[in-house]
Amino acid sequence: MGYIKRDDNKATDMMWDAALGGGGPWVHCSCGIDHSMTDEEFVDGGYNGFRYSNLNEIAFVQGCSGCEERLGKYERFIWDNRDAIRRYLKIRIDQEKAWADQEHLLNTLAGI
Ligand SMILES: [Zn+2]
Repeated sequence: MGYIKRDDNKATDMMWDAALGGGGPWVHCSCGIDHSMTDEEFVDGGYNGFRYSNLNEIAFVQGCSGCEERLGKYERFIWDNRDAIRRYLKIRIDQEKAWADQEHLLNTLAGI
């Protein structure tokens, strides 16, 4: 599956696909807008509704111009700082494993 680069400040489909989220007939977005389906859309559209991503406890609604630009800022931050983020993830994961190994040893010593 291929993606395309955008030449504006909005989030790409790569970001929408990567960010955790969901869909629903009603979403309060990062712009403060309540996106809600009409009764007709709800009947015809079922439960698909609006697609959104949650990042930093903020709901970004796909198709909402303000949300697409705001999520684009997160995407640029991640991409522009990917080397530092990559190093951080390595350090953090290695440390989390070391802590888990210590806990595992404590369990073993406790006989549980
Ligand atoms: Zn919005």
